Amino acid sequence: MAGYRSGGVRVRVVGAEDEVVRLCQELIRIDTSNPGDHSGPGERVAAEYVAAQLEEVGVRARLFESHPGRTSVVARIEGEDPTRDALLLHGHLDVVPARAEDWTRDPFGGEIADGCVWGRGAVDMKDMDAMILAVLRDRMREGRRPPRDVVLAFLADEEAGGSWGAKWLVDEHPELFEGCTEAVGEVGGFSLTVPGDRRMYLIETAEKGIAWMNLTAKGTAGHGSMVHPDNAVTALAAAVGRLGSHEFPVRLTKTVRAFLERVCLAYGIEFDPENPERALAEIGPMARMIGATLKNTLNPTRLDAGYKTNVIPQGATAQVDGRFLPGHEAEFFTVVDDLLGPDVERDFVYYDQALETEYEGALVAAMEASLLSEDPGALPVPYCLSGGTDAKHFARLGMRCYGFAPLRLPPELDFSGMFHGVDERVPVDGLRFGARVLDRFLDRS
Ligand SMILES: [Zn+2]
Repeated sequence: MAGYRSGGVRVRVVGAEDEVVRLCQELIRIDTSNPGDHSGPGERVAAEYVAAQLEEVGVRARLFESHPGRTSVVARIEGEDPTRDALLLHGHLDVVPARAEDWTRDPFGGEIADGCVWGRGAVDMKDMDAMILAVLRDRMREGRRPPRDVVLAFLADEEAGGSWGAKWLVDEHPELFEGCTEAVGEVGGFSLTVPGDRRMYLIETAEKGIAWMNLTAKGTAGHGSMVHPDNAVTALAAAVGRLGSHEFPVRLTKTVRAFLERVCLAYGIEFDPENPERALAEIGPMARMIGATLKNTLNPTRLDAGYKTNVIPQGATAQVDGRFLPGHEAEFFTVVDDLLGPDVERDFVYYDQALETEYEGALVAAMEASLLSEDPGALPVPYCLSGGTDAKHFARLGMRCYGFAPLRLPPELDFSGMFHGVDERVPVDGLRFGARVLDRFLDRS
């Protein structure tokens, strides 16, 4: 709780820590499921809710609609020194869909049970949306301006690549982000418990690139009973088999190397660059995600050909989910083209760049110091995300992008399994911790 004097009367106002839980619950209750087209409920209701929370404390919030119902919110808060470069804080408003029958609790109920707020978006990422709102509302009520201009963006459509959210805003309204040189959003800032009751806090400084590809083989149509060497299905299936079974070599990027070195330090084992999997074996379920940042990957996901058993079709198609490390994009596509051979063509279903920024400088120091002041056992570490976020769009404007949505988590929670998983939930204490850290971070930013 915080208090201030108004007209001689002591007024009690709710502080960020008290508000963050309510805000997270209320955001979860607004269904913003994003099925990847415009058939979902959209983000309009959530955007209006966010705008109202900001307007209530005197922040002018602007709504931007890329398509009916696909709404983002942007606001700029003037800092103490508006001549400094601005900082962007961004979160997405949409969530992936949830099948209620698979869940223990209503995915859009925002219930509190077992010390957690439950619901779709609890960790991805209405938690951070709530933290940003709670902290800025508290600061505005108390007249605590951030040290420099802060741009807030609450975005539509991140879960489908941001075409109707961050990408659209960056393309159509880049002026909103004028002066922003650094950005803070998902996925990072959460803790991973290591020996000695200490916690590593994973700060995202890199993201793999995305190459969702469509593969096409062309052949000659014909009767299934005849001798027929030019079969598109055979050519495509062979290529898909080569791609799916290819083993890419380990490539330690500077971010992944720094992460593994610190894991080894925390577990008291020696770092062996020849055997990075040794360090990964220590970190439990998180290894599923971190393991994918040791190398480029290719996973065939869809196949389609033909319409009748005795008809050889003229063509066959497949789709492959490819992901490449920062600095290893050219190598990735050389390998893909070698594996495809001359008979199979590729085009993109979706492509986006890989990112990697330095784990150094004043903003990183601010993240580390704010974590340490709330958790003296904190061990902040940089890491590479195996997926992609809206950071990819903001990076096109030249911003250095970080994933820092601070959460102190209990050791037993499989946090990486919560993302897009069933029974998504966030500890109440973790949310309150996050609000405190984010507030301290803003003080130092
Ligand atoms: Zn997310």
